Amino acid sequence: MDEVDVPEDHPRYQSLLTRHRIEAGVDAGITSRQGLIAEGRGEAFDYLLGEETIPSAERSERVAAAHFLLADHPVISVNGNVAALVPEEVVELAAATGADLEVNLFGRTDERVAAIAAHLREHGAADVKGLTADARIPGLSHERAKVDADGIYDADVVLVPLEDGDRAEALAAMGKTEIVIDLNPLSRSARHAAVPVIDNVLRAIPNITRHARDLADASREDLEAIVESFDREAALEDAERRIRTGTLET
Ligand code: ATP
Ligand code: MG
Repeated sequence: MDEVDVPEDHPRYQSLLTRHRIEAGVDAGITSRQGLIAEGRGEAFDYLLGEETIPSAERSERVAAAHFLLADHPVISVNGNVAALVPEEVVELAAATGADLEVNLFGRTDERVAAIAAHLREHGAADVKGLTADARIPGLSHERAKVDADGIYDADVVLVPLEDGDRAEALAAMGKTEIVIDLNPLSRSARHAAVPVIDNVLRAIPNITRHARDLADASREDLEAIVESFDREAALEDAERRIRTGTLET
């Protein structure tokens, strides 16, 4: 992907780079045009959050890492925006936690699933799920419900960055521990999550990986204590307060 035409000293470098990656994702058949709209929406929230990982999000990221390490079968769901923005980073998170990667699209087409799977393999993924699509999430219409029987369907912990609210709700209703990365603390996806991570996926994924590495030798008891001490409502309220007032309780 060609990123040379974004000047690094530009005050909005990160934002321009992100837009460029999403555009390139659309051109490569990885990201949908809807993904452009989602990106614009995310950018607005990121701006209001100060374009940084707020302390409560950092805590959510550590809790997410603990869930991954405690899980029997963690799965990272990858859509077109995630594939365009953080392909290497999701591969690293999967490696650090033993999680599966599964391509899971709102507007599923076999071409786009294949393009994303190939893109992830180019970035080092050994195995990518989502191509079989031999199971269904209950309560959703046919195309939107498709998942792999040995992937998301079987998972006990699922990380869904930028998931649609409806599908986030349906996955939570299956009894899965759902970790949602979404910059909008009011979105239905974030509100249904066991662990809402109100942060940009660009920062959140590497942060969760860092915490997973840091916790690699922690005991089950210690990991369970991290998970149990988490207050999801407080995490949502903290982010909302930051957006509304620009101030933050830590
Ligand atoms: P619902 O309320 O049903 O969840 P929605 O608001 O999520 O609907 P979309 O606009 O399609 O519907 O979702 C895009 C979501 O993804 C937005 O909440 C946006 O803030 C978030 N988002 C976009 N880009 C990023 C990003 N880079 N990192 C984290 N979240 C992002
Ligand atoms: Mg949402």
